[in-house]
Amino acid sequence: MGQVKANSETRFVGLPISPGLALSQVCLFNDRRHEGLKVYRIAADGVRYEQARLRKAIELADRGLRDLSARVAERIGAPEAAIFDVQRTILSDAGLSREIEAMIANHRLNAEAAVARVLDSYETRLRELDDPYLRERATDIGEIRRRLLDTLGNMGSSLRCWTQEHCQRGTNRIIVADELTPSLTVELDAEHIMGFVSERGGPTSHAAILARALGIPAVSGIKGARELLTCGTELLLDGNTGEVIIWPDEQTLARRHCVQNSRPVPPQPVAPVQGITVMANISRADEVVDALSMQAEGIGLYRTEFEFLAAERLLDEEEQAARYASVVRAMAGRPVYFRLLDIGGDKEAPFFDLPKEDNPYLGFRGSRLLLGRPDLLGPQARALARASVHGPVHVIYPMIVEVEQFARLRRLFVEAIADISAGPIFHGVMFEVPAACLQAREVLEAADFGSIGTNDLIQYLFAADRNNERVAYDCSPDRPVFWSLIRGIVEAAEQTGRPLSVCGELAGDPRYLSRLREIGIRTVSVAPRAIPALRRSLLQPYA
Ligand code: PEP
Ligand code: MG
Repeated sequence: MGQVKANSETRFVGLPISPGLALSQVCLFNDRRHEGLKVYRIAADGVRYEQARLRKAIELADRGLRDLSARVAERIGAPEAAIFDVQRTILSDAGLSREIEAMIANHRLNAEAAVARVLDSYETRLRELDDPYLRERATDIGEIRRRLLDTLGNMGSSLRCWTQEHCQRGTNRIIVADELTPSLTVELDAEHIMGFVSERGGPTSHAAILARALGIPAVSGIKGARELLTCGTELLLDGNTGEVIIWPDEQTLARRHCVQNSRPVPPQPVAPVQGITVMANISRADEVVDALSMQAEGIGLYRTEFEFLAAERLLDEEEQAARYASVVRAMAGRPVYFRLLDIGGDKEAPFFDLPKEDNPYLGFRGSRLLLGRPDLLGPQARALARASVHGPVHVIYPMIVEVEQFARLRRLFVEAIADISAGPIFHGVMFEVPAACLQAREVLEAADFGSIGTNDLIQYLFAADRNNERVAYDCSPDRPVFWSLIRGIVEAAEQTGRPLSVCGELAGDPRYLSRLREIGIRTVSVAPRAIPALRRSLLQPYA
């Protein structure tokens, strides 16, 4: 593919892996600097020298990774830092260095050539595997390869900009690279990077998780990105839709409300409005800061499973308790609604050890799964009970189908925390399966509160996958049957006296909020950044 002509708008659509908009010039990273690698044969008496060079390079690369891990632990968090600890473990594997040393000795190769050969063959084999977790490890091998070759070639940092003077290591630029790697994501000055565009890297890759944690918009899957673009090309990237627009024209810019050369600025907060409580949806404990800065009146949905997905492993009771307590403490008496792990469907990861299913959205997920997994429910219930001593804890049970299922899971929760002296804990149901909504009264009688998850409710009501753009027209709330279902839940809440809120995306849209209010909803929970616009719409309903 040839390069795109300057100043004519061209659009590409890739995979959105980290939300947000970015507008800036491209900084092309030189991930191919090892292509002209010096490969030569050595004499028999040179073998020990090359092996010693290799050992030194491993030692230095390990030191670099250790420093990086410490920096990331401080700036982002221990789970993210663990990514680099995994690379250290691979690097220090005695089998790996033995194999490279043998390559040097048996093939009489210099250290660079031996490193490239051995690690290339590992990387190729890993990339061919079906298991997505193992495929991801190929990225780690690629990173170790780059790091070792940089060290052997005295190339300094593993991140070298193609034209350093122009790009200033990505400051205020959109980084374009073959692959978004964890270290590329965090080694740069994250405060000043506008966005990432890459050819490879899935939404569950380490790098995508880090980009999201750092709030850097990112799109991957743009084939031939490096060939298409040059340093300095102007780019608009939309990490929500996956669009990458080269040389965007005035109209496009106006539509996206873009501000040149600036990271998306958080909106100005608007004070709470009488008559409706607006809380915030969060996925990570750190996001409580955004919720507070937008003056959220509580956390209406904390999607706790994302803590596990970000850490890429199971979190034990202690680790969960620390995160949950920090949110409760930060909210200082305002309500916090924790959703029990809602895994399955699209939220799967190898460490959850889920069964392979043909139709995971209708499979072993949500509360159904928790009933069969005391190893997940127990530590989470205990961690929540420990957090409750700092303030009231609301527990939302996901994907409830019927009363008995909720009652059973609630019993297991209570049994798991029997020896903990907890604060107030309320148990509620997420209304997102039509069957539960149709018997809302019975369900609410067994519960302390209800929360309507419109995202899944719409998908299950209309049998339309919420992630499939082809059926988006069917996955929509614009149908009377959906609203009569909601009305039924509101009536059930009134009859039983149970508090009810709406936490699906729909509540963040002012058009639907007024409809929700008309039918009696008085509490909603939305993304923190959506709060000000929502409140403004309540203050000026006809603006
Ligand atoms: C929902 O289904 O509406 C919901 C709030 O939960 P999630 O989007 O995490 O499935
Ligand atoms: Mg849901």
